[in-house]
Amino acid sequence: MTFFTLRTLYVCMDYRAVETTDEYVARLETGSDWRAEIEALAADVDAGAAWFTALGAVQDAELAFYDQDDLEYYSIDADEPLEVASCVGNVSWLNGDRFAHTHVVLSDADGETISGHLNEATVWAGEVYMRVFENDLEREHDETTDLDLWL
Ligand code: ZN
Repeated sequence: MTFFTLRTLYVCMDYRAVETTDEYVARLETGSDWRAEIEALAADVDAGAAWFTALGAVQDAELAFYDQDDLEYYSIDADEPLEVASCVGNVSWLNGDRFAHTHVVLSDADGETISGHLNEATVWAGEVYMRVFENDLEREHDETTDLDLWL
């Protein structure tokens, strides 16, 4: 347990030590779904928790922005080829399935970017580095944010 000051309140931050096991690199399959490929890798190596980074290119993408007032995701669609300038995320259990919580920065031909929470994207090419944790992580619905957060 640790405490940090947030304005004048003391907030208890939930944390735990993680032991890492194996590390993997993988190439994502052209034409497949970006996030599903990462979840398939996690399943293949029997990972119940992992952290990853990735890069590459996609043919289209559906991102989401979480509105903190409405407590709802609004989607951002891109129907053009984009570079995956950066992708970071983690894998944990959500309702009995492996869920790759994935964020991306995507760039177009002018170098302009869109970014956010990644729902879907069709892989053009992709390279992933994944570090697996010894103990599983699990998500559960959080009342305050209406998001599925780590237990
Ligand atoms: Zn997110």
